[in-house]
Amino acid sequence: MAGIRVENIEKVFGRVKALDGVSLEVRDQEFVVLLGPSGCGKTTLLRIIAGLEHAEAGRVFIGARDVTTLPPRSRKIAMVFQNYAVFPHLSVFENIAFGLRMQKASPERVKTQVGRAATLMHIENLLERYPAQLSGGQRQRVAVARALAVEPEVLLMDEPLSNLDALLRLEMRAELKRLLAESRTTTLYVTHDQVEAMSLADRIAVMNAGRLVQYDEPMKVYQDPADTFVGGFIGSPPMNFLRLPVEGNQAKMQSFALDLPIPPPGQEVLLGVRPEDLEAHLEPQPQSFPAQVLVVEPLGPHLLLTLMHEQQPLKVTVPPDFATRPGQTLWLRPQPGRLRWLDPSSGRALA
Ligand code: ATP
Repeated sequence: MAGIRVENIEKVFGRVKALDGVSLEVRDQEFVVLLGPSGCGKTTLLRIIAGLEHAEAGRVFIGARDVTTLPPRSRKIAMVFQNYAVFPHLSVFENIAFGLRMQKASPERVKTQVGRAATLMHIENLLERYPAQLSGGQRQRVAVARALAVEPEVLLMDEPLSNLDALLRLEMRAELKRLLAESRTTTLYVTHDQVEAMSLADRIAVMNAGRLVQYDEPMKVYQDPADTFVGGFIGSPPMNFLRLPVEGNQAKMQSFALDLPIPPPGQEVLLGVRPEDLEAHLEPQPQSFPAQVLVVEPLGPHLLLTLMHEQQPLKVTVPPDFATRPGQTLWLRPQPGRLRWLDPSSGRALA
């Protein structure tokens, strides 16, 4: 097995700069998720690594091999696509064997490898069936088994769960996590679903407009977003951003001040705080600021409140039995240690 390394990839489609100097390293056996909004260049990067698309500039390495100019079949990669194209006229066995047959593998090797991949995906009892006789989740596993059967050095997956309905998607997410952990294949996985990314990834590579904006472990990306884009894209509801005046090394709230890690460049600073990191109280508390409740939404495990503080909207989650109503003033206490400070002009985190 092997890791993946891409260096300074540039890709242009007509006037669209799809990839703008992307560098990324996936370690051997690591599961990395490429995450970003539609059109940010995720699929293009995956296709360049697979050799299905040619980059204007940059290099691609699989393990120690520079594969930049190699055709897809020589790269030792396997890819699972969105529609996980299983062939309806082929049995599960033949579907899994497909890549091996293309490689003109011996009948013994086909048998061994299909058996191994099917066992890994827990579909060894379905080998005689046809795709029409399988559930969506089982078809999904056939597609992954087919990719793994050729013993790729790396596995590339492009939104493999996106065609499944919500419930099956949730089940398959956990399944896939378990199965791929067993296979230990280096995997690069594309999604625009931040929950899927958080759930599956060893590390998340967040992309925006053709650039890599943050590459970190899931909780790090969630708690310490590199900029306002990442804070807003990851988390539902997204991170709150409050614009505050700066005095020296402190951000001023109405009746108190919060220390800043470093002095920001301008006269204002953005406080980034997750909805669960603003503690709501009915009475004034030390280090709290007032906000007026606009909307109360019961969501089951918690209430989602929309509040207004000096014309700035905020989202806060509170326990389901928290008694509040629109029009009420609550006191919000930012949880120390859970705050992110950002420069309002660049949107970048201060430290
Ligand atoms: P999605 O989540 O919607 O699949 P993505 O992040 O995978 O999006 P890409 O498919 O990589 O995005 O596309 C990146 C940009 O390049 C987009 O602006 C897209 O319109 C453009 N693009 C991609 N492929 C082509 C192509 N073959 N011809 C022209 N433009 C393209």
